[in-house]
Amino acid sequence: MQSSQSLTLDTATGWLNGAKHLPSENHNARPNAEISLLVMHNISLPPGQFGTGMVEALFTNQLPIDAHPYFTDLEGLKVSAHFFISREGAITQFVSCKDRAWHAGISEFMHRKNCNDFSLGIELEGVDDQAYSDAQYQSLNQLVNELTKHYPLITPDRICGHSDIAPERKTDPGPAFIWQRLQAKHLGERS
Ligand SMILES: [Zn+2]
Repeated sequence: MQSSQSLTLDTATGWLNGAKHLPSENHNARPNAEISLLVMHNISLPPGQFGTGMVEALFTNQLPIDAHPYFTDLEGLKVSAHFFISREGAITQFVSCKDRAWHAGISEFMHRKNCNDFSLGIELEGVDDQAYSDAQYQSLNQLVNELTKHYPLITPDRICGHSDIAPERKTDPGPAFIWQRLQAKHLGERS
């Protein structure tokens, strides 16, 4: 279990001390320095199986395509997120916050397209309809606390789900994600 004291963002590099660092090539430069949106996702590989290491493999372009039928559809896919939180609450960072991770895809927030340009992406290990773990909520709140401390443009109304910015394509983080378990000071009155 990570204590809140152990998570510290190095704003010079954009890497979080206290998290595991697993640098991904799947990123590029932001068009400008603005970071003003936080996007919540879920992922598990194969879907519904946890702790397989396959998410980490996908985000670092090392997924063994032959290991599972589902992976065939993921061949050649270049994706990433800034952060991944395992069922045990362990945080892995793949891309510096200063860089543009490839998590949102075709997306739009408040009439502004290409959310990757100005957002941070957090993946919870999971699926839409299975309760996330207490450890995940605890780590998520610690992470969001630290991020919003350094990126004040991420106001409560600018923390959203992937399904909010790509409603035709995406359903994550799904009904299993309890928005009220994000601390109120970050979340405001979202229902
Ligand atoms: Zn997503």
